[in-house]
Amino acid sequence: MIPYSTSTDIIYRVARQLNSSLDLDEVLGKVLTLTVETTGAERGTLFLLDGEGNVTRQIQSSSHKPPEVVRRNIEITMSHGLAGWVYRHQHGALATNTATDERWITLPDSTRTTGSALVVPLLRQDLVNGLLALHHSQIRFFDESHLALVAGIASQAAVAVENARLFTQINNERKGLYTLINAMPNPVLEINPENEVVFANQAARQSLLVKELNIPLQAIEGGDRLKLALEEMHSRSINHVEVRWPDERVFNVSINDVPQLGSVVTLDDITYLKELEAIKSQFVATVSHDLKSPLTVIMGFADVLKSEPDLSEIAETSLNSILHNATHMKAMIEELLDLAQIETGIEEAVTQVDIIPIVEDVVANHRLEIRTKNLNLTTSLPTDAAIVCGHHLRLSQVVDNLVSNAIKYTPPDGEITINMDCSNSEILFQISDTGFGIPPAAQSQLFQKFYRVPEIRERHRDIDGTGLGLSIVKAIVEGYGGRVWVESEVGMGSTFSCLLPLANARTETCHSA
Ligand code: ADP
Repeated sequence: MIPYSTSTDIIYRVARQLNSSLDLDEVLGKVLTLTVETTGAERGTLFLLDGEGNVTRQIQSSSHKPPEVVRRNIEITMSHGLAGWVYRHQHGALATNTATDERWITLPDSTRTTGSALVVPLLRQDLVNGLLALHHSQIRFFDESHLALVAGIASQAAVAVENARLFTQINNERKGLYTLINAMPNPVLEINPENEVVFANQAARQSLLVKELNIPLQAIEGGDRLKLALEEMHSRSINHVEVRWPDERVFNVSINDVPQLGSVVTLDDITYLKELEAIKSQFVATVSHDLKSPLTVIMGFADVLKSEPDLSEIAETSLNSILHNATHMKAMIEELLDLAQIETGIEEAVTQVDIIPIVEDVVANHRLEIRTKNLNLTTSLPTDAAIVCGHHLRLSQVVDNLVSNAIKYTPPDGEITINMDCSNSEILFQISDTGFGIPPAAQSQLFQKFYRVPEIRERHRDIDGTGLGLSIVKAIVEGYGGRVWVESEVGMGSTFSCLLPLANARTETCHSA
């Protein structure tokens, strides 16, 4: 018989011991040792069960049997022994004399006799997570006081086992995640709100030469550029930018902000794409340049022939067709040469340019087409100057391409709205129309060279175009540190937006790209 005061003292001690660890095996070992010691049992077994009652972990206080034999014995007692009875009834059981207790079975390989035994469940939210069994060779060694004590220990143990199990599960998931991130081929960095590198995966350590953690971002080579890129992404609410590394590699840097932690930064090496792009641009520029002279000759001769008197009808139609197609080809070649020049960055020196008169000029130049199609064009421009660093001609090309597209792709009697807003650091230029609209799948390809929306091209064969205007817009805007995007709905219209960094007219000088 164990006195009540001793029991509470033991349970208190057990609780303290159990709460000192989150390692599942250590917790199980402590539960069993303490229980066996405090009850005076000769042997004890503790095992954990899954939702289906299968043994997932087992531990014995004294046994030299191989684990598979112990497991098989547990399974036998679980199916028709005392353990199974406790599992099914979800409460503890005492077998004061195993010889007369029907629930008791003697195992085939049993070498030791058990006179009395008790088994209690480890209960968690009406589920038996495990069982704790004690044995003694003496009949009536255990009584109700032992059963109550071990039930108390088991209820403490059930909580500790559950905590340890959750901890192990979370820890395993964390380790798995860490292994995954570490094995990623792309460099991944975690930057805390103080701009310190707190984590770098294997690829970041190798490729960005991150030698230690908890250092300022600027302490790694190229870190100052990365810091600027992160600031830019935050201020412009975008989640990726291209960064040129000091060794000329180009990275597409993506950022994901994690509350309280900082930012997770992923770098994708796109140097080979950039090189390929440069080769392609160079190739296109060379071919375009070589095509320009013979084309001019063809157009010249076609013009001469057209002025001949008494041309047959068929000859005149053919010459018109030659001239029409040659003019289209010439426009395309000129745009390609332009694009190559913008993309290679050998750009004219940039100066401070007020973009408002540019918009007014472009609108004035298109007045005739606007009137012919009976379009209603309204502008809302800032009253102050809107100064950006750029080249007058290039900025005119941006505005002109967007305005002429709005006119081209809006049916007669439609609406075109031009809006410009200046914040402290940026100009947002938007041009909306009530035109054909662009299907979602086409929107992502719109700024690629030669891309023309197939549905629009098929349905409106009379609308001429090269598919180069928007590539030129993108190359210029991005070359000046801005970005351009489209929002559109088929049948409703489109809005093209350009965000450009504002140059402070009084204090800032412009630098060539
Ligand atoms: P182009 O107009 O010479 O074909 P762009 O590069 O300027 O070439 O435009 C590419 C394509 O994007 C156009 O062919 C057209 O299909 C689509 N597009 C451009 N602007 C608009 C617009 N405002 N509304 C609908 N579609 C447009």
